[in-house]
This record gives sequence, structure tokens and C-alpha cells, in this order.
Amino acid sequence: MLPVPQSTKGSSRANIKQGFQIGLFVTVLLLLVWSANLFANIRLNLSNIYFVSAETSEHIVIVALDDASLGVYGRSPSQWPRSLYGDLLELLGDAEARVVAFDLLFAESSEDDEILAETIRQIRASDTRTRVVMPVAGAGDLQMIAGEGDTAPLAFANVLLPVEPLAELVDYLAYVNTFADVDGTIRRQPSFIQSGDLTRLSFSLATYLAYLRIPSAAVPQVLTSDGDVLQVTPERTLHLDYNGLWVQNYFGSPGTTFPIVSMQAVLDGEIDLALFNDKIVLVGLISNQGATDRYIAPSSDSGQQMAGVEIQAHAIETLIRDAQLREQSALSQIVIIVVLAFGSAMVYVHLRWYWKLAASLCLLMLFFAAASISFSIRHEIVNLFHPGLALVLPVIISNGLDITVEIRRRQNTEFLLESVVSVSNQQMATDMILKRIAADVQRIATVEMGVAWLSEGDRETIYEFPDGSQSAQTLRSIYNRAQAAKTSIIEDTQLAIPILWQQRLIGVIAVQLTGRQRAGGKSILLLEDLAQRIAPGLENAVLYSEVRRQRELLEVILYTSPTCNAILDNDYTVSRANEAFHTQFVAKAASFDSMQLFDLLVEIGLDEESGEELKEQFAKQQAFQKQVILGNRTFDLHTTRLPVLELWIVVLNDITALSELSRLKTRMIRMASHGLRNPLATLLGYGSLLQHDKNELSEKQLKYIGNMIRAGKTMRTIVEDVLSLEQLRSVEVPFEPTPIEQLVHEVIDRHRPDIAMKRQNFSAEIAGDLPLIHGQPTQLSQSVTNLLGNAVKYTPEGGNITLRLYQNSPESIRLEIEDTGYGISSVAQKKLFTEFYRVKTKETAEIPGTGLGLSLVKSVVEAHGGSTWVESEENVGSTFFVELPVVKDGENNDK
Ligand code: ADP
Repeated sequence: MLPVPQSTKGSSRANIKQGFQIGLFVTVLLLLVWSANLFANIRLNLSNIYFVSAETSEHIVIVALDDASLGVYGRSPSQWPRSLYGDLLELLGDAEARVVAFDLLFAESSEDDEILAETIRQIRASDTRTRVVMPVAGAGDLQMIAGEGDTAPLAFANVLLPVEPLAELVDYLAYVNTFADVDGTIRRQPSFIQSGDLTRLSFSLATYLAYLRIPSAAVPQVLTSDGDVLQVTPERTLHLDYNGLWVQNYFGSPGTTFPIVSMQAVLDGEIDLALFNDKIVLVGLISNQGATDRYIAPSSDSGQQMAGVEIQAHAIETLIRDAQLREQSALSQIVIIVVLAFGSAMVYVHLRWYWKLAASLCLLMLFFAAASISFSIRHEIVNLFHPGLALVLPVIISNGLDITVEIRRRQNTEFLLESVVSVSNQQMATDMILKRIAADVQRIATVEMGVAWLSEGDRETIYEFPDGSQSAQTLRSIYNRAQAAKTSIIEDTQLAIPILWQQRLIGVIAVQLTGRQRAGGKSILLLEDLAQRIAPGLENAVLYSEVRRQRELLEVILYTSPTCNAILDNDYTVSRANEAFHTQFVAKAASFDSMQLFDLLVEIGLDEESGEELKEQFAKQQAFQKQVILGNRTFDLHTTRLPVLELWIVVLNDITALSELSRLKTRMIRMASHGLRNPLATLLGYGSLLQHDKNELSEKQLKYIGNMIRAGKTMRTIVEDVLSLEQLRSVEVPFEPTPIEQLVHEVIDRHRPDIAMKRQNFSAEIAGDLPLIHGQPTQLSQSVTNLLGNAVKYTPEGGNITLRLYQNSPESIRLEIEDTGYGISSVAQKKLFTEFYRVKTKETAEIPGTGLGLSLVKSVVEAHGGSTWVESEENVGSTFFVELPVVKDGENNDK
């Protein structure tokens, strides 16, 4: 089994540690970015999302010097006749507008200035007392008088004032200067601006005060400043920054919040003047042609710019609605960054990557929602940028770390797999595999030296690395311990890992790490992983090399063997053969192309007929043994069939010399026996003739002659026994169905005289209707004779002899001859059936015999496919058994 890959999620303690590290990193990073005011653009732009449209203003109407007016009166409003403005002011005064504030600089004098001045005088004198506000503009260098932390108004070197006498007549002269943030957006309005000794209000503040009907002379009493708080009215306070700027609000995108009417339309009487009643009327340029006096406002949709007069309108509206915005305090920004960075990092490290993303999205949405609630209730502009990063960065870092871990894990897995594959590709050469393992180990860990040890059966292979490092000696003790314990052993800088396959040790990897490095941690895990993965490949290689060794051994034995060995395919073609076979057969039939065994043998001298016989034998698909004669040489051919592999194993033994000897022996025995037979017959004939002449010979002579005749008879028995044994072995006599009980009866009849002579009690129990035996009657008869003869011979006078003949199984007939004779010791029983063996006891010493009888019985019975054995006890008696197979239905009569 492959080891379960380590999860990308570690233990919870490791998680908390990682969460803390990520939180700390993100916090430090963000605080640096925040304090350096980097990415201010993005931060400011992000706050624009707070501005959503509110309801239309009821306090302000804008009279626009729009494209229509420009078309009618000329492209440059400063050069329009001042009487036009006088007419407008008159109309607005009639409409009882509360304030008319011009966002237009009347800095250059004109001939009809007096007409406008007169109108101003008139409406200021009227009952409705419409207030008139005119702008001034700071020019020249803007001076930041105040240092950081101090509160002091901005100051300009010069001021552009309206011409006399206008400047003296209006209720307020106020600065129209605005201040854009780094993103070009206008958010802040000045409160006071200084020029020389004179401090004037901003346009918006002045218009608001005019709207409240506070005369400019009363301003120093009404407005009280307390550092960063400007008390406008008892209910209105403005929070100022150190330059006296305050943050205005926006209530909609350009052109949506305030009613805007064309100045030309007003002058032409196209507008119902009731629109201006009790309103602040701002007069300014709103032209779509040219980019004059247009700025980006936070509430601008899709980059649409807002006219300066409209921005002023929003500022005045901010004051009227008491909707001044406040920037979030530095402290609360820092706190939020720290809390969110740490908090979110701690949450993320416990989650899977997709949950991290989901969680960061949820947290972002929650935070933005909270910030916009705070904006609409407390008018506070919460910094979205840094806290947003505090929620997102930990996800990115945490996922990044996970990905790195995962990539490293994959790399390791890949490396290990590569290692496994290469181990299996080393063509099972264990020395190559060890070399490969050494290289892998050195890739995993920085080792000073190491040793890979492999056990192959009773042999060991050791590979030391680097070459000649004597590492086996240095690491001997630790790898012995790993070998004994079958587990990894770590000791200081040494490490030993066992390679186990199915709980069996097949090798050990031991290493000494370099320098001060300690064993353990990742490298041990990886090495263990490696050991586990290469184990199967290694085991295969070990097995394979063992098999190869065995095969080589067998091949050497077979090839160097003097006997001729060959393996035949199922079609009897010689597929492999040893050296002896090649020289003996293949080489001699060099011109021959078929390698079928019988054809090959015929080719080198086997006669056609024997070749056919051989073919038939093979066709029976059973192992057999046969002598084959090739020219003047005789071979003993043994075949074995391997049915599963469908192969034949053939062994051919040259027995020419042996068979020559055997033939010689047979000839000599025959010669000797036949040569002895006739002289013996003559000897015995004359001997018995002499015995008949009892009167002419003395008692002593008769006794000697008797001895001679007995010896002669013994000789004759030996000669006959030898001959019949020889005949049995060398001559193949045809078998025939033989009625066994008839044969046994005949043998019994022949022995009756001997039995009677020894006054023995004989009984025969012969079953009727016995099946036929497939055999050779003479040989069978001889065998039964030998057995019954022995029973009579080796049973003293008056003893009992019982003969039983019966069918003991459907396949066989059994003959038992039991006697109450001298019996045979168990030691003697073992050699009983060997040629010329006779038991020598006191009782049997005088009994004549050759020791050939039982060996003949054994040969005959086995030639008939039967078996013979004895059960006997000394001085109790013996029983000899013979079991013979019966003729089966349809069995061929010949053998
Ligand atoms: P032999 O010609 O000596 O009888 P056998 O081969 O027939 O040779 O018997 C071998 C030996 O086995 C005999 O010498 C005899 O000692 C022993 N033997 C054979 N049959 C019997 C028997 N029925 N009872 C006791 N001993 C026997």
C-alpha cells in the first residue's frame, strides 16, 4: 500500500502558529503601506462607493451659464455686459430669493459695472433683503502656514477681488478655491483662507451664513473656533483638519441633486420665478463645451465631471443638512487593520482553499456593509482599502503557502514514483538498483555517507556511497539495530531505515547526515516513504536474481551432463538440448532441417519401423522408456511429459557397452547351463543305475553314491533355476488369458506325494468362477510351484499348509500359501526376494536349495503387473502372498 500523502492541513497547533505568522506579516506590511500613504489613489477612489443618490435639494437652485446662454451672449461670460447680471439680480430679487451667490469672478472692470452696482444697492435696500455673495480667488503661492498638528488656515500671497464698487456693495466676499485630493477628486472645502492680514471665509461657508441672514460684520462673534472644531451656530460644528479644511458631502451624481436653469431662460422670462423664492441661487458656469471649471466628484458616475458651482452647491447643502463627513481616526484605522489581519488569518488557516475564499468574501461584504452603515449614520468615511487588504492578503498568502506545500508534496511524490519506476526498470539487476537507491537518498537528504544493504537469500549485497567511503563500517552498529528491530533507528546524525516487504526484511538504508544536521523531520519521512515504495520492486529483483541463479545452476548441470537431454515441444520438435545431445544427434544430422525427434533419430540411423513405433509411443501422451538402436549403438530412451507446459523431457543414455555385456552374460549362462545339463544327466543316470546294483556295492559305497546323486540333483536345480530366470528376463514370451485355478490345482497335484511323505496336513480353499489372468502359464505355474514347494520344504513333518485362492477385488486375484513352518526373521524377510539369498538357521541348514526360487517368483509376478510379499514369524510360520491383475473386458490378449 502506498502511504497516505500528508494532508495540506497540519495539526491545529501548527495552524495557529501559521495563522499568527501570516497575521503579523500582513499587519506590518499594511501599517507600513498605510503610514507611507501608498496607494492613496486606490484608497480614496474606494471611498467613492459610499456616495449614493439622496433626495433632491429644497434649498438651492442653480442658474447656469449654460451652452444656450453662451450661445446667445458670447463665449466668455466675464465679457458679458454687466447689465445682464444686473437684470438677473433684479429678477431674483423680485422673486425674493434669499441669497444670490455668484460663482463668477468680476475681477476686470467694465463700463457698465455701475449698472450692476446699482441693482445690488436696490435689492439690498428692498424689504426682502436678498443677500449677495461674490467670490474672490486666492492667487499666487499657496502657503501652508501651519505645521503638522497645528491648526491654521491656508494663505495665499495674492487675492483676485471683484472690481470696485461691486466688492464694497456685496454682503460677502468669499474664496471659491477648492482643493483636490491626489486622485483629482474634490472632497474638502476650506473654512478660512488668509491673505496678508485679512482672513476671509470660504464661498460655501459665506453663502451658508448669508442664508442664515448673519451679516458679515457679525461673523467674528458668531464663528468661534476651538482648535479643530469650528462652531458655526450653536447647533452646527465643523471638524477641521490642520489646514482648516472640512470634508463636504455629495448627495447625487452631477446634474441630479439641484434644479438647474439656464440664465438665458431666466432672462427671457421662460422660468416661473416662484422657483427662486426663499432659495439660495447659485450663478455659475455649467458648460459641456470645454473643460472649464469642472472637477471629478466622488459621486461622479463613470467619470462624468461636476461643475464648480455644483460642487459648491453640495458643500452648502452639506452645511444646511448638517451632513459633514468625518474621516476615520488614525487610531481606529490601525485597530481595524490589526484586528482584521490577525483575526482573518487565524480563521483561514483552518479552512480548505475554497472555504478561505468564501470566508474572505463574506468578511469583506460584512465589513463593507458595516462601513456603509457607519457612513450613513455617523457620516464617517471608513477606510476600506487597508482593512480590505487585511481580509484578502491572508487568504492569498495562506493559499499560496498551501500551494507551495502541495507542490513540494507533489514533487516528492513524483520523485518517489520516478524512483519506483526506475527501480523496476533496472532490469532486475540488484547492483543497479542499489546504485539508484543511493542516488535517491542523496537527493532527499544531504548525507555525508551511506550504505544500502540488500539480503538475497543467503547472500548479502552492500553498496557504499560515496564510493570507497567505508560507510558500512561506520554505520554497522545502527544498521544492525534497524535490521534486528525492523523499524527506523535515529541516533544523533545517523539514521537507519529498514526496507520491509510483507513484514520481511529485504534490506536496510543507513546514512550519516552532514555536519550539525540532526536526523528526523521531513527527510526521515521521505526516506521511509522511499523505502516503502521501492520494497516491491526490490523484492522482485531479489527473487528474479535468485531464480536466475538457480536456472544457471541447473543449466550448467544439464549442459555439462554426459547424458543427452532434450526438451521437445508438443509437436516433438527439439526446442532445447544440451551439449551431449547436440554432439551425439544434432551434429550428426547437420544436413537435416526437421527437428522432430523421431525424424532426427531415423536420419542418424534408427530404422524406419522403430521410428514409427516411437511415434506411436509418443502419441499415447504418456511417459515411457524404450531402447533404441542407432546403427551399432544402443540407447536407453526415457521420456517424461509435462502436461501443463505441453513439453516432453527426453533423456537418452548410451547403453551400448552395457547391453553388449548383458548379451555376453546371457550367452555365457546359456552355454554353461546347456553344457552342464547333459553331463549332469549322464552323471545322475549312471548314479541311479549304480544304486540299483545294491548287492555288488558295500554299504559305504552306496552312501557315497547317494551323496553324489544329491549333489548332482542340486546342481541340476541350480542350472534349471538359472536358466529359467535368464529366460524370463531375456526372452519375451507372449501372454494369454490363463485360468488360474486350474493351474493351481495342477501344481497341488504334483506336490501331493511330497506332502504325504512329510505327513503334513494340507488344505486348499479355492474359489470358483475366478476370472482369467492375463499371463504366461508356464511361468505362473513355476512360481506357484516354488511357493508351495518352499512351504513343504520349510515346514517340519506333521505341520499344516493352507492354500487360498480368491478374488480380493474386482481387479485382482490373490493367492495365499500359509504354513506352520520354521518362519523367517524380520531381518531376513527384507532380503528374501533377492537372487541367491538363503536364510541360514539350524533347522534349515540341511534343506537343499539355490536361493533363486523367490527371486524368480518376484520377477514373474512383477512382469504380470502384480505384487508379492510375505508375513512371517520365527517358529510360528509364514504366509506368502501373490496378487495378480485380472483380464479386463476388451483387453488385448497379447502384450
Ligand atoms: P531355496 O532354493 O533356498 O528355497 P528360495 O528363494 O525359494 O530358495 O528361498 C529363499 C529362502 O527363503 C530359503 O532358503 C528359506 O530359508 C526361506 N524360505 C522360503 N520359503 C520359506 C517358508 N515357507 N518357510 C520358511 N522359510 C522359507
